[in-house]
Amino acid sequence: MTHPENNPKYLGLNVNKGVEQPPSINPYLRSKRSARRTFTVDEYTQGILSGDISMLSQAVTLIESSKPEHQEIAQAIINKCLPYSGNSVRVGITGVPGAGKSTSIDSFGMHLISKGHKLAVLAIDPSSERSKGSILGDKTRMEKLSVQKDAFIRPSPSAGSLGGVARKTRETIILCEAAGFDHIFVETVGVGQSEIAVHTMVDFFLLIQLSGTGDELQGIKRGIMEMADGIVINKADGDNIKKANMAQRQLKNALHLFPMAESGWTPEVLTYSGFYSLGIVEVWDMIFRYIEFVKENNYFDTRRNNQAKYWMYETINERLRNDFYQNVEIEKLMPSLEAEVLSTKKSSFVAAKEALDTYYSQ
Ligand code: GDP
Repeated sequence: MTHPENNPKYLGLNVNKGVEQPPSINPYLRSKRSARRTFTVDEYTQGILSGDISMLSQAVTLIESSKPEHQEIAQAIINKCLPYSGNSVRVGITGVPGAGKSTSIDSFGMHLISKGHKLAVLAIDPSSERSKGSILGDKTRMEKLSVQKDAFIRPSPSAGSLGGVARKTRETIILCEAAGFDHIFVETVGVGQSEIAVHTMVDFFLLIQLSGTGDELQGIKRGIMEMADGIVINKADGDNIKKANMAQRQLKNALHLFPMAESGWTPEVLTYSGFYSLGIVEVWDMIFRYIEFVKENNYFDTRRNNQAKYWMYETINERLRNDFYQNVEIEKLMPSLEAEVLSTKKSSFVAAKEALDTYYSQ
Protein backbone atom coordinates (compact mmCIF):
# COMPACT_ATOMS: atom_id res chain seq x y z
CA MET A 1 0.00 0.00 0.00
CA THR A 2 1.40 3.39 -0.90
CA HIS A 3 1.83 5.92 1.79
CA PRO A 4 -1.04 8.48 1.80
CA GLU A 5 1.48 11.27 1.74
CA ASN A 6 2.82 9.92 -1.56
CA ASN A 7 -0.55 10.27 -3.23
CA PRO A 8 -0.09 12.82 -6.08
CA LYS A 9 -3.02 14.70 -4.65
CA TYR A 10 -1.30 15.16 -1.33
CA LEU A 11 -0.21 18.72 -0.91
CA GLY A 12 2.56 18.40 1.63
CA LEU A 13 6.11 17.04 1.20
CA ASN A 14 6.56 13.54 -0.25
CA VAL A 15 7.95 10.76 1.92
CA ASN A 16 10.57 8.60 0.27
CA LYS A 17 9.74 4.97 -0.29
CA GLY A 18 12.66 3.68 1.71
CA VAL A 19 14.96 0.77 0.95
CA GLU A 20 14.33 -2.91 1.24
CA GLN A 21 16.03 -4.76 4.05
CA PRO A 22 18.77 -7.16 2.86
CA PRO A 23 18.10 -10.85 3.48
CA SER A 24 19.53 -12.14 6.72
CA ILE A 25 21.38 -14.90 4.85
CA ASN A 26 24.15 -13.84 2.53
CA PRO A 27 22.89 -14.73 -1.02
CA TYR A 28 26.50 -15.00 -2.24
CA LEU A 29 27.38 -17.62 0.27
CA ARG A 30 27.88 -21.02 -1.25
CA SER A 31 27.12 -24.16 0.60
CA LYS A 32 30.32 -25.40 2.20
CA ARG A 33 29.15 -28.83 3.09
CA SER A 34 29.56 -30.45 -0.27
CA ALA A 35 33.01 -28.99 -0.83
CA ARG A 36 35.19 -31.56 0.92
CA ARG A 37 36.53 -33.99 -1.56
CA THR A 38 38.09 -37.24 -0.56
CA PHE A 39 41.55 -38.03 -1.77
CA THR A 40 43.27 -41.23 -2.76
CA VAL A 41 46.00 -42.77 -0.63
CA ASP A 42 48.60 -41.55 -3.13
CA GLU A 43 47.24 -38.02 -3.09
CA TYR A 44 47.34 -37.95 0.70
CA THR A 45 50.87 -39.33 0.73
CA GLN A 46 52.12 -36.87 -1.88
CA GLY A 47 50.45 -34.01 0.00
CA ILE A 48 52.05 -35.03 3.29
CA LEU A 49 55.48 -35.54 1.76
CA SER A 50 55.32 -32.08 0.21
CA GLY A 51 54.54 -30.62 3.64
CA ASP A 52 50.89 -29.77 2.96
CA ILE A 53 49.46 -29.12 6.43
CA SER A 54 45.84 -29.43 5.37
CA MET A 55 46.50 -32.90 3.92
CA LEU A 56 48.38 -33.86 7.05
CA SER A 57 45.47 -32.73 9.24
CA GLN A 58 42.95 -34.64 7.18
CA ALA A 59 45.06 -37.79 7.27
CA VAL A 60 45.36 -37.48 11.06
CA THR A 61 41.59 -37.22 11.22
CA LEU A 62 41.42 -40.53 9.35
CA ILE A 63 43.82 -42.07 11.88
CA GLU A 64 41.56 -40.86 14.67
CA SER A 65 38.36 -42.11 13.04
CA SER A 66 36.88 -45.36 14.26
CA LYS A 67 35.23 -46.11 10.91
CA PRO A 68 36.80 -49.20 9.32
CA GLU A 69 36.94 -47.58 5.85
CA HIS A 70 38.84 -44.60 7.28
CA GLN A 71 41.17 -46.88 9.19
CA GLU A 72 41.95 -48.76 5.99
CA ILE A 73 43.00 -45.59 4.14
CA ALA A 74 44.87 -44.33 7.20
CA GLN A 75 46.90 -47.52 7.50
CA ALA A 76 47.76 -47.40 3.80
CA ILE A 77 48.94 -43.78 4.14
CA ILE A 78 51.01 -44.66 7.22
CA ASN A 79 52.65 -47.52 5.36
CA LYS A 80 53.59 -45.25 2.48
CA CYS A 81 54.92 -42.57 4.80
CA LEU A 82 56.90 -44.95 6.98
CA PRO A 83 60.09 -44.91 4.86
CA TYR A 84 60.16 -41.11 5.20
CA SER A 85 59.67 -41.07 8.96
CA GLY A 86 62.04 -41.35 11.88
CA ASN A 87 64.14 -38.25 11.28
CA SER A 88 63.13 -36.29 14.30
CA VAL A 89 63.81 -35.73 17.94
CA ARG A 90 60.78 -36.97 19.85
CA VAL A 91 60.34 -35.44 23.28
CA GLY A 92 57.71 -36.44 25.83
CA ILE A 93 56.68 -33.65 28.16
CA THR A 94 54.82 -34.28 31.37
CA GLY A 95 53.89 -32.37 34.50
CA VAL A 96 50.89 -31.96 36.76
CA PRO A 97 48.19 -29.48 35.66
CA GLY A 98 49.47 -25.99 36.37
CA ALA A 99 53.14 -26.99 36.15
CA GLY A 100 53.37 -24.79 33.09
CA LYS A 101 53.39 -27.31 30.26
CA SER A 102 51.67 -25.15 27.68
CA THR A 103 53.60 -22.02 28.62
CA SER A 104 56.83 -23.99 28.41
CA ILE A 105 55.96 -25.71 25.14
CA ASP A 106 55.24 -22.26 23.71
CA SER A 107 58.70 -21.08 24.76
CA PHE A 108 60.56 -24.27 23.83
CA GLY A 109 58.77 -24.32 20.49
CA MET A 110 59.57 -20.71 19.66
CA HIS A 111 63.21 -21.41 20.50
CA LEU A 112 63.30 -24.37 18.12
CA ILE A 113 61.54 -22.48 15.34
CA SER A 114 63.98 -19.58 15.69
CA LYS A 115 66.72 -22.13 14.98
CA GLY A 116 64.99 -23.16 11.76
CA HIS A 117 63.29 -26.30 13.05
CA LYS A 118 59.74 -27.50 12.44
CA LEU A 119 57.74 -28.67 15.41
CA ALA A 120 54.64 -30.83 15.85
CA VAL A 121 52.93 -30.77 19.25
CA LEU A 122 50.76 -33.80 19.96
CA ALA A 123 49.10 -34.92 23.16
CA ILE A 124 47.89 -37.96 25.01
CA ASP A 125 45.07 -37.25 27.36
CA PRO A 126 43.11 -40.31 28.40
CA SER A 127 40.58 -38.16 30.24
CA SER A 128 39.56 -36.45 27.04
CA GLU A 129 36.94 -39.04 26.22
CA ARG A 130 35.08 -38.34 29.43
CA SER A 131 35.42 -34.58 29.13
CA LYS A 132 34.52 -34.72 25.40
CA GLY A 133 37.44 -32.84 24.04
CA SER A 134 40.98 -32.59 25.18
CA ILE A 135 42.64 -29.61 26.75
CA LEU A 136 46.11 -30.91 26.14
CA GLY A 137 47.64 -29.83 22.89
CA ASP A 138 44.93 -27.23 22.51
CA LYS A 139 46.09 -24.40 20.26
CA THR A 140 44.67 -21.68 22.43
CA ARG A 141 47.05 -22.67 25.19
CA MET A 142 50.08 -21.96 23.02
CA GLU A 143 49.55 -18.47 21.81
CA LYS A 144 52.85 -17.76 20.11
CA LEU A 145 53.35 -21.18 18.63
CA SER A 146 49.84 -21.52 17.27
CA VAL A 147 50.36 -18.79 14.66
CA GLN A 148 53.66 -20.17 13.40
CA LYS A 149 53.60 -21.89 10.04
CA ASP A 150 56.39 -24.20 11.20
CA ALA A 151 54.32 -25.51 14.09
CA PHE A 152 51.60 -28.13 13.89
CA ILE A 153 49.48 -28.45 17.03
CA ARG A 154 47.03 -31.28 17.45
CA PRO A 155 44.97 -32.06 20.57
CA SER A 156 44.77 -35.57 21.96
CA PRO A 157 42.69 -38.10 20.03
CA SER A 158 39.66 -38.69 22.17
CA ALA A 159 38.36 -42.11 21.30
CA GLY A 160 38.78 -45.32 23.18
CA SER A 161 41.19 -46.78 25.66
CA LEU A 162 44.52 -45.25 26.62
CA GLY A 163 46.21 -47.87 24.44
CA GLY A 164 44.06 -46.85 21.48
CA VAL A 165 44.65 -43.13 22.03
CA ALA A 166 48.38 -43.70 22.35
CA ARG A 167 48.55 -45.82 19.21
CA LYS A 168 46.87 -43.05 17.23
CA THR A 169 49.36 -40.53 18.55
CA ARG A 170 52.24 -42.78 17.61
CA GLU A 171 50.87 -43.14 14.08
CA THR A 172 50.43 -39.38 13.88
CA ILE A 173 54.13 -38.98 14.72
CA ILE A 174 54.96 -41.00 11.59
CA LEU A 175 52.90 -38.71 9.36
CA CYS A 176 54.31 -35.55 10.97
CA GLU A 177 57.86 -36.73 10.40
CA ALA A 178 57.06 -37.58 6.78
CA ALA A 179 55.70 -34.03 6.44
CA GLY A 180 59.09 -32.64 7.51
CA PHE A 181 58.61 -31.94 11.21
CA ASP A 182 62.01 -32.59 12.75
CA HIS A 183 60.88 -32.12 16.35
CA ILE A 184 57.89 -33.81 17.91
CA PHE A 185 56.54 -33.04 21.35
CA VAL A 186 54.11 -35.42 22.99
CA GLU A 187 52.45 -33.75 25.93
CA THR A 188 50.67 -35.53 28.73
CA VAL A 189 49.35 -34.86 32.22
CA GLY A 190 51.57 -36.09 35.00
CA VAL A 191 48.96 -37.98 36.89
CA GLY A 192 48.87 -41.57 35.77
CA GLN A 193 49.32 -44.27 33.21
CA SER A 194 49.62 -41.92 30.28
CA GLU A 195 53.30 -41.22 31.02
CA ILE A 196 54.09 -44.84 30.41
CA ALA A 197 52.35 -44.63 27.05
CA VAL A 198 54.27 -41.48 26.12
CA HIS A 199 57.49 -43.09 27.26
CA THR A 200 56.97 -45.82 24.68
CA MET A 201 57.13 -43.37 21.77
CA VAL A 202 59.73 -40.71 22.60
CA ASP A 203 63.51 -40.40 22.65
CA PHE A 204 63.66 -38.06 25.63
CA PHE A 205 61.25 -37.84 28.52
CA LEU A 206 61.08 -34.45 30.22
CA LEU A 207 59.39 -34.00 33.59
CA ILE A 208 58.30 -30.47 34.48
CA GLN A 209 58.32 -29.86 38.20
CA LEU A 210 57.36 -26.96 40.40
CA SER A 211 59.18 -25.68 43.42
CA GLY A 212 57.67 -24.11 46.48
CA THR A 213 54.93 -26.66 46.89
CA GLY A 214 56.28 -27.98 50.17
CA ASP A 215 58.23 -31.17 50.15
CA GLU A 216 59.60 -31.35 46.61
CA LEU A 217 59.52 -35.08 46.48
CA GLN A 218 56.02 -35.47 47.67
CA GLY A 219 53.48 -36.23 45.04
CA ILE A 220 56.02 -37.15 42.42
CA LYS A 221 55.51 -40.73 41.62
CA ARG A 222 58.78 -42.54 41.83
CA GLY A 223 58.00 -44.35 38.60
CA ILE A 224 57.63 -41.11 36.68
CA MET A 225 60.89 -39.78 38.09
CA GLU A 226 62.61 -42.98 37.14
CA MET A 227 61.40 -42.66 33.55
CA ALA A 228 62.60 -39.05 33.22
CA ASP A 229 65.73 -38.32 31.20
CA GLY A 230 65.63 -34.77 32.47
CA ILE A 231 63.78 -32.95 35.22
CA VAL A 232 63.19 -29.23 34.83
CA ILE A 233 61.89 -26.95 37.54
CA ASN A 234 59.66 -24.29 36.06
CA LYS A 235 58.79 -20.80 37.28
CA ALA A 236 62.34 -20.04 38.39
CA ASP A 237 61.70 -16.31 38.23
CA GLY A 238 61.32 -13.44 40.69
CA ASP A 239 60.96 -14.50 44.31
CA ASN A 240 60.80 -18.10 43.25
CA ILE A 241 64.43 -18.43 42.15
CA LYS A 242 65.75 -19.38 45.56
CA LYS A 243 63.10 -22.03 46.10
CA ALA A 244 63.73 -23.40 42.62
CA ASN A 245 67.45 -23.74 43.34
CA MET A 246 66.69 -25.54 46.56
CA ALA A 247 64.31 -27.90 44.79
CA GLN A 248 67.02 -28.52 42.20
CA ARG A 249 69.45 -29.64 44.91
CA GLN A 250 66.88 -31.89 46.54
CA LEU A 251 65.92 -33.53 43.28
CA LYS A 252 69.55 -34.07 42.30
CA ASN A 253 70.16 -35.81 45.60
CA ALA A 254 67.06 -37.93 45.20
CA LEU A 255 68.14 -39.02 41.71
CA HIS A 256 71.39 -40.37 43.12
CA LEU A 257 69.38 -43.02 44.89
CA PHE A 258 67.99 -44.37 41.65
CA PRO A 259 69.68 -47.18 39.77
CA MET A 260 71.62 -46.29 36.62
CA ALA A 261 69.31 -45.79 33.63
CA GLU A 262 69.53 -48.27 30.77
CA SER A 263 70.74 -45.49 28.51
CA GLY A 264 73.82 -44.91 30.64
CA TRP A 265 72.77 -41.27 30.90
CA THR A 266 72.50 -39.57 34.27
CA PRO A 267 69.31 -37.49 34.31
CA GLU A 268 69.95 -33.79 34.83
CA VAL A 269 67.96 -31.32 36.88
CA LEU A 270 67.68 -27.75 35.62
CA THR A 271 65.71 -24.66 36.56
CA TYR A 272 64.07 -22.33 34.05
CA SER A 273 61.13 -20.02 33.47
CA GLY A 274 58.78 -20.84 30.65
CA PHE A 275 56.87 -17.62 31.11
CA TYR A 276 59.88 -15.29 31.00
CA SER A 277 61.83 -17.54 28.62
CA LEU A 278 64.79 -17.89 30.98
CA GLY A 279 67.04 -20.93 30.80
CA ILE A 280 65.31 -22.33 27.72
CA VAL A 281 68.54 -22.61 25.75
CA GLU A 282 70.07 -24.66 28.59
CA VAL A 283 67.13 -27.07 28.60
CA TRP A 284 67.59 -27.68 24.87
CA ASP A 285 71.31 -28.01 25.23
CA MET A 286 70.66 -30.80 27.68
CA ILE A 287 68.29 -32.55 25.29
CA PHE A 288 70.73 -32.28 22.41
CA ARG A 289 73.58 -33.54 24.56
CA TYR A 290 71.44 -36.51 25.51
CA ILE A 291 70.60 -37.27 21.87
CA GLU A 292 74.29 -37.12 20.94
CA PHE A 293 75.16 -39.34 23.88
CA VAL A 294 72.61 -42.06 23.05
CA LYS A 295 73.35 -41.96 19.34
CA GLU A 296 76.99 -42.52 20.18
CA ASN A 297 76.34 -45.52 22.45
CA ASN A 298 73.57 -46.90 20.17
CA TYR A 299 70.87 -46.65 22.82
CA PHE A 300 68.94 -44.28 20.53
CA ASP A 301 68.36 -47.07 18.00
CA THR A 302 67.85 -49.71 20.67
CA ARG A 303 65.12 -47.64 22.29
CA ARG A 304 63.36 -46.97 19.01
CA ASN A 305 63.57 -50.63 18.01
CA ASN A 306 62.16 -51.70 21.35
CA GLN A 307 59.36 -49.20 20.91
CA ALA A 308 58.56 -50.49 17.42
CA LYS A 309 58.40 -54.03 18.81
CA TYR A 310 56.27 -52.92 21.75
CA TRP A 311 53.77 -51.27 19.42
CA MET A 312 53.50 -54.32 17.23
CA TYR A 313 52.56 -56.49 20.23
CA GLU A 314 50.38 -53.76 21.67
CA THR A 315 48.44 -53.49 18.41
CA ILE A 316 47.97 -57.26 18.27
CA ASN A 317 46.74 -57.28 21.87
CA GLU A 318 44.32 -54.45 21.27
CA ARG A 319 42.96 -56.04 18.13
CA LEU A 320 42.47 -59.42 19.81
CA ARG A 321 40.78 -57.81 22.78
CA ASN A 322 38.45 -55.79 20.58
CA ASP A 323 37.59 -58.76 18.37
CA PHE A 324 36.81 -60.81 21.44
CA TYR A 325 34.66 -58.28 23.29
CA GLN A 326 32.83 -57.13 20.18
CA ASN A 327 31.92 -60.67 19.23
CA VAL A 328 28.12 -61.07 19.33
CA GLU A 329 28.16 -64.39 21.19
CA ILE A 330 30.60 -63.05 23.76
CA GLU A 331 28.56 -59.90 24.25
CA LYS A 332 25.54 -62.09 25.00
CA LEU A 333 27.45 -64.44 27.27
CA MET A 334 29.45 -62.02 29.43
CA PRO A 335 26.70 -60.61 31.69
CA SER A 336 25.56 -64.07 32.81
CA LEU A 337 29.13 -65.25 33.32
CA GLU A 338 29.86 -62.15 35.33
CA ALA A 339 26.82 -62.78 37.51
CA GLU A 340 27.89 -66.37 38.08
CA VAL A 341 31.36 -65.28 39.14
CA LEU A 342 29.93 -62.67 41.50
CA SER A 343 27.58 -65.18 43.10
CA THR A 344 30.53 -67.63 43.37
CA LYS A 345 28.74 -70.18 41.23
CA LYS A 346 31.79 -70.27 39.01
CA SER A 347 35.40 -69.40 39.64
CA SER A 348 36.95 -66.57 37.61
CA PHE A 349 39.15 -69.04 35.78
CA VAL A 350 36.37 -71.42 34.84
CA ALA A 351 34.27 -68.50 33.59
CA ALA A 352 37.18 -67.12 31.56
CA LYS A 353 37.81 -70.52 30.04
CA GLU A 354 34.15 -70.86 29.12
CA ALA A 355 34.18 -67.44 27.43
CA LEU A 356 37.35 -68.20 25.49
CA ASP A 357 36.10 -71.67 24.48
CA THR A 358 32.90 -70.09 23.20
CA TYR A 359 34.90 -67.57 21.19
CA TYR A 360 37.28 -70.07 19.65
CA SER A 361 34.60 -72.62 18.88
CA GLN A 362 32.96 -70.32 16.36
P1 GDP B 1 49.75 -26.47 32.34
O1 GDP B 1 48.46 -26.78 32.99
O2 GDP B 1 50.83 -27.41 32.85
O3 GDP B 1 49.71 -26.44 30.85
O4 GDP B 1 50.21 -25.02 32.86
P2 GDP B 1 50.11 -23.59 32.17
O5 GDP B 1 51.17 -23.45 31.12
O6 GDP B 1 48.71 -23.36 31.74
O7 GDP B 1 50.52 -22.65 33.37
C1 GDP B 1 49.79 -22.58 34.57
C2 GDP B 1 49.97 -21.22 35.20
O8 GDP B 1 51.33 -21.01 35.57
C3 GDP B 1 49.58 -20.08 34.27
O9 GDP B 1 48.92 -19.11 35.03
C4 GDP B 1 50.92 -19.57 33.77
O10 GDP B 1 50.87 -18.19 33.45
C5 GDP B 1 51.82 -19.80 34.97
N1 GDP B 1 53.21 -20.02 34.54
C6 GDP B 1 53.62 -20.88 33.60
N2 GDP B 1 54.96 -20.81 33.46
C7 GDP B 1 55.39 -19.87 34.33
C8 GDP B 1 56.69 -19.35 34.65
O11 GDP B 1 57.70 -19.69 34.08
N3 GDP B 1 56.74 -18.41 35.64
C9 GDP B 1 55.64 -17.99 36.29
N4 GDP B 1 55.80 -17.08 37.24
N5 GDP B 1 54.40 -18.44 36.00
C10 GDP B 1 54.28 -19.38 35.04
